Amino acid sequence: MASFVKIAVSPQNFGRYKTLTPKAYKLARTAAKKLRGKKVLHINSTAAGGGVAELLKSQVPLEQSLGIKSRWFTINPPAYFFKITKKMHNLLQGKLSDSLSAKEKSAYLGTVKKMLPDFRKLIDSFKPNLVIIHDPQPLPLIEALTAKKPSSILRIHIELSAPNPTAMEFLRPLIQKFNTVIFTNKIYKPLWLAAKKAKFVMPAIDPFSQKNKKMPLTEAESILALYNINIDKPVVSQISRFDPWKNPMGVINAYYIAKKSIPDLQLVLVGVMEAADDPEAKGLFKKVKKHAEGDPDIFLFSKKSDLLGVPNAIFINALQTANDLVIQKSIREGFGLTVTEAMWKGKAVVGGKTEGIMLQIKNNKNGVLVSSPEEAAEKLIKLIKDRKLRGRLGKVARKTVKKKFLMSRLVLDHLKLYTLSI
Ligand code: UDP
Repeated sequence: MASFVKIAVSPQNFGRYKTLTPKAYKLARTAAKKLRGKKVLHINSTAAGGGVAELLKSQVPLEQSLGIKSRWFTINPPAYFFKITKKMHNLLQGKLSDSLSAKEKSAYLGTVKKMLPDFRKLIDSFKPNLVIIHDPQPLPLIEALTAKKPSSILRIHIELSAPNPTAMEFLRPLIQKFNTVIFTNKIYKPLWLAAKKAKFVMPAIDPFSQKNKKMPLTEAESILALYNINIDKPVVSQISRFDPWKNPMGVINAYYIAKKSIPDLQLVLVGVMEAADDPEAKGLFKKVKKHAEGDPDIFLFSKKSDLLGVPNAIFINALQTANDLVIQKSIREGFGLTVTEAMWKGKAVVGGKTEGIMLQIKNNKNGVLVSSPEEAAEKLIKLIKDRKLRGRLGKVARKTVKKKFLMSRLVLDHLKLYTLSI
């Protein structure tokens, strides 16, 4: 089995940002001039499902459009590897009551070690100027990059504000081998990492993608009608992998409380991507299903077939467009692209008070922040009952995304870093 899979991306034209974000467009064009023909190799663990794949799908072709020879490969490990890395992900996001066993550590390192010969071949044939490793799964590939060239960047997308110290200590020697480490948030930087190595880039969304481009409300409503979601009654949704940090059980609890005040409230929970690197989702979904049992106003989407042939991106767009309110009740969140996506559609978002969501939502200005199911229920009731307030928050939310969280800004941030690294 090949250790790496090349991911083909659909071409995109950076010129599309000329009128939408003129400043970022101009600056990126200028920065790209010096980088023409340079080669950047992105490596992550999955081509679909979750935020990293979502970002790379747009970032890689936009870099190409600017004259950089960017390529995207995923690693291709056996399934047990992702069980270990999901555990590691949970530890890094702050799970304290667990640890990696010696066997798990050696399986993790051993699996990536087996990829090193293929990785060296890839480097020899593509000859990148810069390699960007995304997240901890492929992180030990750094062992093959100890020479001065190519330059190496680790891009950590996860929430690292209070990691389990044992997991962090385990990864520390590997992380320190990178030339640069990009975090989403300043407070995610571990104290031991030299300040000059740390850089900060916030994620962004692609406003032209099927998921985010403007969908007429009537079209969105007709898509929801396929699943018998009644658009004449209030609809709240959370779109997220079934993951404990996304707290779907808390969302259902909040919904049950709110339902007492708004009896016709409907809740839609979506987590259909089944990302290959997230084997934990199935177990949690069983619990979610049980908790939702007997309530005909809770709609669950956990697998592709539940979408009745509608492509995932179109379904998500329809739901974020036609629902009344979006909830993202995460307990830990590195950033939360689902929040950005909903804000871009002018929706008020009830977000869990987490570091990543606080980068986007300023409480009561462009959304609201909550810390418990009870508080979430209180805000759901308030916002469902007050259409004007929802509209006001949503309008500011869209402006926030235009200003700070579109792909042109993310590409510009990366080009600046590439200039420093290459
Ligand atoms: N997503 C999707 N379908 C789903 C669930 C999630 O397309 O059923 C997408 C979602 O729209 C977003 C990404 O997956 O673009 C999730 O990114 P986020 O940063 O919110 O969370 P992560 O999964 O990376 O923790």
